[in-house]
Amino acid sequence: MKVLVDRFSRRIDYLRLAVTDRCNLRCIYCMPPEGVPHLDHAEILTYEEILRFLRVALRAGIGKVRLTGGEPLVRRDVEELVRGIASLRPRLDISLTTNGTLLAKKAESLAAAGLKRVNVSIDSLHPETYRRLTRGGDLATALEGVEAALEAGLDPVKINVVTLKHLNDEVEGFLDLVYRLPVHVRFIEYMSPCGAVDASYFVSNRVIRARLLRHGAMEEAPSPLGAGPARYYRLPGARGMVGFISPVSSHFCPECNRLRLTAEGRMKPCLFSTEEVDVRGILRGGKDDRETEEEIYRAILTALDKKPYDHGKLESFTKTNMSRIGG
Ligand code: SAM
Ligand code: SF4
Repeated sequence: MKVLVDRFSRRIDYLRLAVTDRCNLRCIYCMPPEGVPHLDHAEILTYEEILRFLRVALRAGIGKVRLTGGEPLVRRDVEELVRGIASLRPRLDISLTTNGTLLAKKAESLAAAGLKRVNVSIDSLHPETYRRLTRGGDLATALEGVEAALEAGLDPVKINVVTLKHLNDEVEGFLDLVYRLPVHVRFIEYMSPCGAVDASYFVSNRVIRARLLRHGAMEEAPSPLGAGPARYYRLPGARGMVGFISPVSSHFCPECNRLRLTAEGRMKPCLFSTEEVDVRGILRGGKDDRETEEEIYRAILTALDKKPYDHGKLESFTKTNMSRIGG
């Protein structure tokens, strides 16, 4: 089997696939209150186009695929896409990042279609704070999504918490959650170039970790399935673990294994890279299958070649937003 290795000898085997730029929430760390201008439907890759791209990407060395967005579950019949991806390779590691609002309805059908695991973004366990951070979301609905994911057998179920100073840095409630449910809670440092609030809201994970330590010992632990940039800790007697994803205070770029495909079919070598490699043009170029696949493969190699060693100083980036790129 082929492997993808970049200029810095990193093996790249993980693709994050934004299936839509649309979202039913407006999290303050992700979007301005009015949202962001939507792509036209015709600009977004069809499921057939995504699968055609993936067929080549899997042969090239991609072994894990994560659906993200925008909110992936707002795209119609997303289970069909999951089923299509699962049919490309048996036991493929297919995962999803979601805000959880539609997960209660869809967890079972997604699992049946071949989804293996899920990350749910829930930034506060206080309904009012959650509503404020998501600009209107309902915490109970997202938590029902988590329960449904566990019942459907998705494993592991992880909760993503972006912490913002004085807004949701009440992390203790999440401790109760990992004692109560077999879920892994990961605290994510706020990347201000992606959000609508300024960098003064940033809290280092060092602060969050120190606050959690006041409540008892934490012991470093191996990552659950889907090892990524998070560092995990086990708490005595807890069913889940806590993890820290620290893109700002401690660079994990040297271990990066990702490429991204945006909803409109552009490959991005890095979340913060201004470089993009167009794939949609190739998919819609009208060439025969063999030529199209060769061009897609070359586009993947071009994106790989453009992958930077790290994202440099985040403060120097112009505003972007995660929903457009696929967080
Ligand atoms: N809508 C889905 C969700 O919220 O999980 C998937 C897309 S969202 C852009 C993917 C992840 O990016 C979420 O876990 C979200 O918390 C994270 N994210 C968005 N903006 C961020 C920021 N400015 N800094 C750190 N993480 C961010
Ligand atoms: Fe939507 Fe996810 Fe961005 Fe929140 S973080 S606005 S749920 S895309």
